[in-house]
Amino acid sequence: MLKMFPKAHITIAAATTVVVTAAILMSPSADVEAKRMSYTLDLEQGKTSEIISQKPNAKTNTSPENMAKETQSEVASPAPEQANPNPAPSLDWQTFEIKSGDTLSSLFNEAGFSDGIMLSVIHGEGEADKLQRLYAGETIRFASDSEGQLAAVELQRNLLETLKVEKQDGTFNGLTEMREPEAKPAFASGTIDGSLYLAAQEAGLNDRLTMKMAGIFGWDIDFVYDVRKGDRFEVVYEELYLDGEKFGTGRILSARFINRGKENIALLYTDSNGDSDYYAPDGKSMRKAFLRTPINARISSSFNLQRRHPVLDVVRPHEGTDYAAPPGSPIKAAGNGRVLSSGWKGGYGRTVVLKHGDNITTLYAHMSRIGKSMKTGARVKQGDTIGYVGSSGMVTGPHLHYEFRVNGSPRNSRTVKLPEAQPIPASEMARFKKITSRQIAQFEAFSSNYQHLALASED
Ligand SMILES: [Zn+2]
Repeated sequence: MLKMFPKAHITIAAATTVVVTAAILMSPSADVEAKRMSYTLDLEQGKTSEIISQKPNAKTNTSPENMAKETQSEVASPAPEQANPNPAPSLDWQTFEIKSGDTLSSLFNEAGFSDGIMLSVIHGEGEADKLQRLYAGETIRFASDSEGQLAAVELQRNLLETLKVEKQDGTFNGLTEMREPEAKPAFASGTIDGSLYLAAQEAGLNDRLTMKMAGIFGWDIDFVYDVRKGDRFEVVYEELYLDGEKFGTGRILSARFINRGKENIALLYTDSNGDSDYYAPDGKSMRKAFLRTPINARISSSFNLQRRHPVLDVVRPHEGTDYAAPPGSPIKAAGNGRVLSSGWKGGYGRTVVLKHGDNITTLYAHMSRIGKSMKTGARVKQGDTIGYVGSSGMVTGPHLHYEFRVNGSPRNSRTVKLPEAQPIPASEMARFKKITSRQIAQFEAFSSNYQHLALASED
């Protein structure tokens, strides 16, 4: 057998409990990192511009140097007067790592400045007032001039973002400075033995990229139920560098996922309007007009039109899919549409029915609470929270009962062919082909290079 991947990737302990670990990968709107991020990750929208922020190093002394550089030109010939409005180039910096419980006042005081000075800073010009929003883990620096007067305050929010408040002509002036990291493509590949999570970890992908990958392919592949041992993935993603030093990862640029022998390819494409999304090489969107599941939860009862009632022994079809989830778990609208009905509906209990286009309806039953804006006729967007899991109506325990109907007939929401989101329009196709052909070439180069290395390491 031709082994395309090194041993390390195929000797992961065979975990049998795939479901539990994979389940966390399916939360389509999870905030992936508990730590602050510059932009939140939104898997549903396929938004790709976010960048992880990392905790700044406690001791950074680049900024005093920068300050010195900036001020040097202004004070080419040192003025002898005491009333020199330009701060001396030799500013004295104090740096504090912000801990929970710190306030701006306590930090000013620790640096030796009064609340009065603090007020004159936050009431300054520009973005000076933003100094009031501070978070544990950020770094604050105070610069004082040779007379001990406060000359500047810098709040470094993360490696990329710093709020600089500097004294100019007696007034403090604030400005946010963003640094642009350099992105270099990198490659990772793995074969699933236990779970996607384990294989991705083994391949060197961090949790954020793993979630991202699951989000890209999650429209086609149910990572809780569909992933099999032997499934493979390859990903080209961005590694982010600042001053030549790697500090994080950015977007997934292209990816291939082979699920039960079926190849899925996703390419990140930014259209001429500047909107980015993932597409198959033929220009079809990776997204669907519907979420496969309206909730991130385990199936407790499947769609079954022939279901026999366990006690009555008569056919009592189950026209939907049940998801067991804790009461209060949010339920998402599976697709864009309008509220057809909302309220109590017999044995269904608190129920919302959405109408999507002409012929599709989705139904969400047994809620503990219906979302406030779910008035009949209201517009709903895919992923909007429409209500919360409960046990209203005829049920034995809290769960979501979800129905998907086409022209009024019940369909299995897990297997029904879902309409796709908008493909690349014909007017954009030439541009798409031109740009993605370069991406594909890059991907193939990484992939074949990797396989050669893998073969070499077998010997
Ligand atoms: Zn049900």
